[in-house]
Amino acid sequence: MSHPVTTTSILPHDHRDCVQTALQTAEQLCQRRGLRFTATRRRVLELVWDSHKPIGAYDILETLGRESASAAPPTVYRALDFLIEAGLVHRLDSLNAFVGCPDPASRHAGQFLICTCCRTVTELSDPEIEQLIAGKAAAGGFLAVRQVLEIEGLCNQCRTAPQSA
Ligand SMILES: [Zn+2]
Ligand SMILES: [Zn+2]
Ligand SMILES: [Zn+2]
Repeated sequence: MSHPVTTTSILPHDHRDCVQTALQTAEQLCQRRGLRFTATRRRVLELVWDSHKPIGAYDILETLGRESASAAPPTVYRALDFLIEAGLVHRLDSLNAFVGCPDPASRHAGQFLICTCCRTVTELSDPEIEQLIAGKAAAGGFLAVRQVLEIEGLCNQCRTAPQSA
């Protein structure tokens, strides 16, 4: 099964479409799997999708705290756990932050291109890379269970941006 490599976030685009699509996809996915897409879960996902830059739990808590007094930290952490478990959100360990998954319907580990300049994250989620690593690991008798690749560098925009005077 071929799997499209998502590169949208590198190019300029109308990000409202990304957010809309992400929320719709999440709703459908939860419905199909019989999961409850509560208002808190929805709002947390929306905040994670606020941009293609990863967001920390603290920033989510701060925004939600301003919106409603009932947004206690455990509630937000539980919502994040749910979203990660459902594959709607990925956790980037190197940044201790979260990004929305553009393709949550397929189970994957994900490879993340992280721009060290503007912090934009692009997910590759290429199954060939996953299989390659799993194969290499298995050759040495190692069972790969979790493989998240966090690749640091410069995105196309930051690479080609004119040096500001
Ligand atoms: Zn976008
Ligand atoms: Zn993903
Ligand atoms: Zn960049």
